[in-house]
Amino acid sequence: MSFEPEFPEGALVGVLITEPLDRMLDYKAPEGGCDTGAFVEVPLGPRKVLGVVWGKGTGGYDLAKVRSVLRVLDAAPMQQDMRQFLRKCADYTLTPMPAMLRLATRAPGLGGAVSMRKVYRLGGREPDRMTNARARVLDAMEAYGGAAVTMGELAEAAGVGNSVVKGLVKHGAIYEEDSPRDLPYPILDPDRPGKPLTEDQASAASALRAGVAAKVYGTTLLKGVTGAGKTEVYLEAVAECLAQGRQALVLLPEIALTTEFLTRVEARFGARPAEWHSGVTMTERRRCWRMVGEGNAQFVVGARSALFLPFRDLGLIVVDEEHDGSYKQEDGVLYNARDMAVMRASLCSGHVVLASATPALETWVNAEAGKYNRVNLTARFGAAKMPQMRAIDMRTEDLPGGSWISPSLQKAVRLRLEKGEQSLLFLNRRGYAPVTLCRACGEQIGCDHCDARMVEHRFQKRLMCHQCGETKPIPAACPSCGVEGKLAPVGPGVERMAEEAAAQFPDARLAILSSDLFGSARALKERIETIAAGEADIIIGTQLVAKGHNFPLLTLVGVIDADLGLQGSDLRAAEKTFQLMRQVAGRAGRVETQGEALLQSFQPEHPVIRAILTGDEEAFWRAEASERQAVGMPPFGRMAGIILSAPDLAMVFDVGNALAQNDGPLRAIGAQVFGPAAAPIARIRGRHRVRLLIKADKGAPLQAALTAWIGQLKRPTQLRLSVDIDPQSFF
Ligand code: ADP
Ligand code: ZN
Repeated sequence: MSFEPEFPEGALVGVLITEPLDRMLDYKAPEGGCDTGAFVEVPLGPRKVLGVVWGKGTGGYDLAKVRSVLRVLDAAPMQQDMRQFLRKCADYTLTPMPAMLRLATRAPGLGGAVSMRKVYRLGGREPDRMTNARARVLDAMEAYGGAAVTMGELAEAAGVGNSVVKGLVKHGAIYEEDSPRDLPYPILDPDRPGKPLTEDQASAASALRAGVAAKVYGTTLLKGVTGAGKTEVYLEAVAECLAQGRQALVLLPEIALTTEFLTRVEARFGARPAEWHSGVTMTERRRCWRMVGEGNAQFVVGARSALFLPFRDLGLIVVDEEHDGSYKQEDGVLYNARDMAVMRASLCSGHVVLASATPALETWVNAEAGKYNRVNLTARFGAAKMPQMRAIDMRTEDLPGGSWISPSLQKAVRLRLEKGEQSLLFLNRRGYAPVTLCRACGEQIGCDHCDARMVEHRFQKRLMCHQCGETKPIPAACPSCGVEGKLAPVGPGVERMAEEAAAQFPDARLAILSSDLFGSARALKERIETIAAGEADIIIGTQLVAKGHNFPLLTLVGVIDADLGLQGSDLRAAEKTFQLMRQVAGRAGRVETQGEALLQSFQPEHPVIRAILTGDEEAFWRAEASERQAVGMPPFGRMAGIILSAPDLAMVFDVGNALAQNDGPLRAIGAQVFGPAAAPIARIRGRHRVRLLIKADKGAPLQAALTAWIGQLKRPTQLRLSVDIDPQSFF
């Protein structure tokens, strides 16, 4: 029997390439032919580029001039559902297909020859002398279930040096062989027993298992407070998926969280899953990409872009902390990984689990409407309860200017210090002070390239722009009036809070957790672990601490400024504040002791603050939903943002006005255009930014209208235009 290729040598094929062209290119199938979905290398001018055979060529060219595919790459072909996914995702986000393909091939050396390396397998012979170290190596090998492992992996798993492994090779207890660099991942065993589940958890788990077992598309919202056991429960869904022989993907919002997660997976399934995020080495990225395609990675844990891995048979996607803002990619291809996960699953007959203590309003509405199933975990696992929540009314606190920890909060912290428990002072502001003001002329020091104030980072002794990352030394004299010694920090950042806490609690051990203070994810993770183990009495942190880290000794959370997120014009301000405050409060009292959360606020009667305190979440979401419904805002209407930018301000506004005036295609679907207006950050990296907002009814064909509308525009070369469908934030 022979397998005929779909396209025999010389047949015309259409190839999607990663270069920014607006169409597919025709090539001739190479020697041996090729199939739809094959990854190929094709000539483009003098270069060789990566592509995917998308189907039959369109023809219409001089056949003699059509060039041949250079070679079919040694990689599993892209499955049909993946090709559909890229197409649908491109159409939804209005992204050109080549950019989608780049997103789906972000691994190095896919076209390169497969390099070899030494690997090790169980040999069968007993070594003459069995030492403790040797036994550990052999045990570790057995745990890999016959799969080949590298020296590094083996030595680490067994906790021995390389020489022990080499000794075993000499005795024939282990074989050494040359193998392609990209090895399959160790097999996971879904039948190993998990932790015994509570009644609540067990019924949630069986609902999720049923969803996965159905092998048809479905989405379930798994809602439960931090510590309720959501992870424990969705790992059961993963077990079901693995038992079906399908692949599972878990998305996490924060790569610092993956290590704890990997350990839990290993405990549950006997081996670690594949990892995909920015902290993974290039070699591992390529291995992951290839093995996912071959079906030799059963389970992947990763960041949002893992959604674009070429899974062979994806059965389950879990989006943990699904409300988290980091699922929205804000540059390049603008997509929301949570929404795209649902799209992807609908194409591959997979199940989606959206896990959160505080779901996004969109998700809550979809569950209410019956589009998503909903499973609740009502209690925290074991004795742990949600903390007691109280507001500190800052209008009645006696607090000197330039300090932010109120007497009531100080008292609560002292109590914890006496009991040897941890406190967290939460302030979602990096650096020392958000504003540096000249007391002589009133100038606030700004960035030279952006319309943003420079933030003082005292540890680094520099001012930093949080928009473009530019830093400069803190000047002695005001750059505007030249007067020396009059520059003063205004307002608090975490570094300043640490200074105040050090003055008020001189004997306490302080730790600051802020993303800019750590060079790497690993350094951050290690710091978090030592803090969790008790190496600090007071943690001062930004939203970094809100994301699922476990601090078992923590019993008090003090929110320095609960009003912070409520300012500004963001459509989602209330929702985001509610989520963040509930999440932060959830850090307190995970174990036996009930925790306490104190929110400093100048407006404790504000409906959002009240909802946070009472914890009446359903009431909050109902109120928030009806408010948005009344004005036709998402998820009850649709929105898109257009950002135009160019070095020349007049030009950006001219283009913006031209767009606004020629709004025929939008009016045809009943959509409205707002703007152009200067974007909230009106200049970034020297480019002036102008924003237009488009609002449409829920059912309106927005993307088609946007394409027609933007298509009329003559674009000056200097101008950049980006379309943000379902914008999350407006900046
Ligand atoms: P969530 O994801 O909802 O925050 P986790 O699944 O992380 O909750 O559970 C919180 C803690 O409680 C974890 O340390 C977890 O191992 C533990 N836990 C949850 N359920 C159980 C259970 N049934 N048996 C033992 N430990 C559990
Ligand atoms: Zn800047």
